[in-house]
Amino acid sequence: MDSPPEPELLSLNTATVREKWSLRQMIEGCARHRIRGISPWRDKLAEMGVKEAAKAIRDNGLTVTGLCRGGMFPAADRKARRAAIDDNLRAIDDAATLEAKCLVLVSGGLPPGSKDLAGARGMVRDGVGEILDHASSAGVPLAIEPLHPMYCADRACVNTLAQALDLCDELNRNGSGALGVAVDVYHVWWDPLLRAQIERAGDKRLLAFHICDWLVPTADLLTDRGMMGDGIIDLPLLRSWMEQAGYHGFHEVEILSSRNWWRRDPDEVLATCRMRHRTVC
Ligand code: ZN
Repeated sequence: MDSPPEPELLSLNTATVREKWSLRQMIEGCARHRIRGISPWRDKLAEMGVKEAAKAIRDNGLTVTGLCRGGMFPAADRKARRAAIDDNLRAIDDAATLEAKCLVLVSGGLPPGSKDLAGARGMVRDGVGEILDHASSAGVPLAIEPLHPMYCADRACVNTLAQALDLCDELNRNGSGALGVAVDVYHVWWDPLLRAQIERAGDKRLLAFHICDWLVPTADLLTDRGMMGDGIIDLPLLRSWMEQAGYHGFHEVEILSSRNWWRRDPDEVLATCRMRHRTVC
């Protein structure tokens, strides 16, 4: 058995407690539970105001392990694709203000009514390509997060780490670290090529590590994710692959759970995250 992870590497993706807490409460909650990292979502960030949030995060000594999220590039017409690009440019600026370790990109699925999957994937490539320069000059690495194939139609048509890394190779050939991947165990645990692709990514392109668990059975495609230890993902094994590939960053807990964790007292959720991080990750 590997040694347990360093407690200071725990980060809270705020989706985990989004039903009951504002971003300010999340920031203060992290400080209270000695969670050193935070990854806000943009809806909560907009509510609080970016500058105000950046200040509160700084005052509490937290690291922003990612901003969720940019992406969502495919759209039915040029105007809508342009609007998506503009929205991503704003997200990059917000991530820079927060000094975020990365902006997480969820690629987007098929435009409404479309069956052109290759076309949608082409729009993702073009979209990432269009925002990459702005991200580089702002000092914000872009982390493409492949999502489980069950989301291919409506959320993300980038579904494996190999596919995300192919995009990195194509758009950022020199591997400068400006473009990389977010490895979320929920989305990639099943992939027979996972270990090889984590190795292929290497330390420059492994920008984020998201943890939760896969419940059996899973009752909802989006909001039935498990707390670490409650499902079937071998979290210590996956962490060991990340570390062997050179990743020594945060472990970001991201649990969308309308049936369970969203209903609980967020202080209980954070205490459980901290305990499970130490005991089962
Ligand atoms: Zn994630």
